[in-house]
Formats: sequence, structure tokens, C-alpha cells
Amino acid sequence: MGVDGVSFYEIADGEPDRPAVAGPGGPLTYGELHERVNRCSAVLRGLGLRRGDTVATVLGNRPEFLVALFGALQNGLYLVPVSRHLSPPEIGYILADSGAGAVITEGALGVTVENAVRAAEAGSVAVLNVDEPEWLEAASEIAADARRMGSVMLYTSGTTGKPKGVRRPLLDLPPEPVFDLLRQTIGRDLHLAPGDDVHLVVGPLYHSAPCAHAMMALTLGHTVVVPPRFEPEGALRLIQEHRVTSTFMVPTMFHRLLGLPADVRDRYDTSSLRQVFHSAAPVAVHTKRAMMDWWGPVLWEYYGSTESGAVVVAKPDEWLAHPGTVGRAVDGVEIRILDEDGRELPPGETGMIYVRGGTLGFEYHRDPAKTAAAHRGDLYTPGDLGHLDEDGFVYMSDRRTDLIISGGVNLYPAEIEAVLLGHPAVADVAVIGVPDEEWGQRPVALVEPAPGHAPDEALGAELLAYCEPRLARLKHPRRIEFRAALPRTPSGKLSRSRLREEYMKH
Ligand code: ATP
Repeated sequence: MGVDGVSFYEIADGEPDRPAVAGPGGPLTYGELHERVNRCSAVLRGLGLRRGDTVATVLGNRPEFLVALFGALQNGLYLVPVSRHLSPPEIGYILADSGAGAVITEGALGVTVENAVRAAEAGSVAVLNVDEPEWLEAASEIAADARRMGSVMLYTSGTTGKPKGVRRPLLDLPPEPVFDLLRQTIGRDLHLAPGDDVHLVVGPLYHSAPCAHAMMALTLGHTVVVPPRFEPEGALRLIQEHRVTSTFMVPTMFHRLLGLPADVRDRYDTSSLRQVFHSAAPVAVHTKRAMMDWWGPVLWEYYGSTESGAVVVAKPDEWLAHPGTVGRAVDGVEIRILDEDGRELPPGETGMIYVRGGTLGFEYHRDPAKTAAAHRGDLYTPGDLGHLDEDGFVYMSDRRTDLIISGGVNLYPAEIEAVLLGHPAVADVAVIGVPDEEWGQRPVALVEPAPGHAPDEALGAELLAYCEPRLARLKHPRRIEFRAALPRTPSGKLSRSRLREEYMKH
């Protein structure tokens, strides 16, 4: 089995004086964190929530998120972390769909959440606000011994449709052996072990990977640093100040870090970094090389999804020997590439990526048809296209839904985007397929220019010329259009379906 992104975590026991949270919102020792989590757990029990029930959070990145998270888990509840960037109807949809019995939120977001609850007609939902000093005071009996294993039910980012709740079965096993197995698996697959490590959380905690990394860190007794948001120079400052050893980033963060002036980059000591994990979206080979030139061979990539956890891992040396790979299946996981009819394809041929193993299984909450569509027997697909090489390394081409079919040939937007990102005038780019009478579909590139570059015809012509020697003619964008900014989700993903819809409207 691989590192299951979302289940079976606990806060490490051990020295109560060790710092659990440092930096903004801290310091908080392990002893203090345990105390708050136990109180939160008692408050949730006091609301009548029982094993298998659901509690949601609408919180920014702050220590209270971790309190709510572990408070729910140790009661055997499902925790649904909801993005605070969503509108009240979107939040309401998730609250109603997940059947949340309570929502933990903060400050002014309380009003948004109350509106969401009303809009969703979600029945009686208790709203707790962590900025009200008495929020943990309602705890009646505080049981430090509660160690039931709940689970995080994450809603996927919704880049391919309505957000889907990914639900794991709750385990009916004694917790100790499960937590021991979890620690072993994290050590084996990601080389993280109990110790004095310091983990910097820069991605939104409501997304599977940053959430899983924060949970792993606390399960291993590490210290976490949780700034409210990612800001490139701020992240460098925190890495230096707290001697950060590990972090999880998405490729847009690499672009923003690399976009800092050289003198700013040189100002900070990042030599404490041992592991910089990344996932969630494709990274261009030259971007990753540039990061390794700066930080050393510390970039650990994995491929997976909310559904599967991290099933494929590329250690830095493996990636350097196989540039562009997203990694190789971890122990207990098999990767199969199948064609549309379910026939297995040999190395080198592109088809749908299927996974066997990885987690104890999942279902899409209240959507058996979707659950069935993602499975073929005991294989599951995250919906991506890719191929294997002879050594078993996986190369992801793109999401099936983003594939452009032009003149009968499959074009992968990520490949064209990676080329354009190599041009210094390009800060970000999205390639989408637009209808074309002759070709069926043709690629169009939407480009966010880098600071100091005017979005004019000359730049468009220059970018097309740049593609000329680097991409087969068929893959050349039919046109380049400029956008002031591209809509990336806070989890670093590009919503190409949304861009396609907007493009077709005008
Ligand atoms: P939705 O299906 O609602 O749009 P989502 O699938 O984006 O949500 P996640 O589970 O967060 O939700 O994302 C998983 C997807 O992220 C994978 O299917 C793949 O497309 C992409 N991904 C994961 N790892 C990598 C990687 N290393 N390189 C490129 N893309 C990756």
C-alpha cells in the first residue's frame, strides 16, 4: 500500500514541550496541541456527533485548522475541509452533500458560512467560530484517551465538474498497529521519519497534499510552520528563520520563486531543505532543473490523487536519470496503461493510467455511477493519460478531459505549455482546444506575460516563432492570446474547462 493521503493520522505522543507549531499562530507545544485537540474533540461529542458523522471546516491556514482536524479524527468522524475561497452556494453544496452536522470556521467567514447553511437548507448545522475565545470552553468531559480513527473526506478541486467527495471506509481495527504501519509506509515511500524536522505548509490545508503533509509531520513529531498564505520571499524568509527541512509545493510556486530577482533569491539561506515534495500539476523539465540548480537535488515528485494517495514517487536522483517522469509505483501498487477497450498497452504507448492498490479503497460520496466509472475491477483511474517506460517509470501526458484531438492526432496541452514556459516573457500559460472546421480542434495558447513584457502582436509572433523548432507543426498553437492572469486554483491547478467555456463565450 502507498501513503494514504487522508486517513489514519494521530498526533505524536512524546515530549510535551517539543514545539508542534512554530511561526505565525505559534508557538504551540505538543502538550498544548494535545490539550486543544482533546477539548475540540469533546466539544464535537457534546454536539452529538458520533463515529461516521461529518464535520466541516471553512478555515484559512492556521494552527486551529490542525486542532479541528485532529479533534474530528480522534472522534472517528469524517472531516470535510472546505475551501474558504468558495462562494456561499458552493460551500452550501458541499455542506449539504456531505451531510455536515457542524462547521468550524473563523472571524468574518462566520457570516459567509451562516449564509451557506441557509442557502443549502442543510438542516441544523452548528457553526463554531475559532476566533470566539470560548469556542473550546463548551467541552464537558475531556477525554485524553479517545483514539478512534476518523478520516478526512476531501472534495476534489472540481476542475473537471462538480466537486466530488472522496470517502474512505472507516477502519474497525485497534489504532496502534495501523498508526505503526502508517509510520513505516511514510518512511519507506517518502523517507520521512520521526525526528527534529521542520515542515513548512505553504499550500492550502483544505487540499489533499498539504493536509496530508501537515498530518504526516505531526504524526512523526515534527514541527510545522503554517503561514496564512504563500508569498515567495516570505517563504524563503521562513525557510531560513526556522531551518525548514521539508515542504510541499506546487509548480506555480516554483515559477513565482524563480521569478524573484537574483539578489533577493541569494539573500536567503535555504541549505536546511532536505525534501521539497511536489505534485498536483505538471512541472516543466526546465523549471524543475532550475529549482534543483538553486536548492540542490531535493525535489521529490509524486503522482496521485485525492482518491489514491501518493502511488507513484520520483526521488530526485530517479528524476534526474529519467527527466519528465512523475515516478515509479511504490511497493504494493501497480500501474497499468489501458486503451479505451481496457486492453493493456506496452511500454512507450500512451493510454489511460490505472492504479491497483494504494489505499483501502474509496467511493465517491452519494455517486455510485461515478464510483463505477472510475473503476475496472480492482483497478482505478484518476482520469489521466500517460505511458510507462521499460523501467516502469510513469510519464503523465495530461488529463483525459483536456486532451486535444486535432486532425485525428492526440495533442497534450501540458507538452505545449511546457515549451512556452521556457520563454522568459511567459509567466504562465494555458493551452486549450478550440473547435476548428478542418481539424476538429486546434490548440490556442492563453499567455500571462511576465512583468516588463507587453502583450502585443510582436510578442505573439515571437512566441509562435519560439515554438517552431521545438514542437511539431501540428502542435503549434493556432493563435496566442494574452490574459492579465490565468485562473489557477489555490492548489496550483489550471481549470482548462473553465478557460474553454470563457473562450467560447466571446
Ligand atoms: P477534480 O477531478 O474535481 O478536477 P482533481 O482531480 O484535480 O479534482 P486532485 O485529486 O487534487 O483533484 O488531483 C489529482 C490530479 O492531479 C491527477 O489526476 C493529475 O491530473 C494531477 N497530478 C497529480 N500529480 C501530478 C504530477 N506529479 N504531475 C502532473 N499532474 C499531477
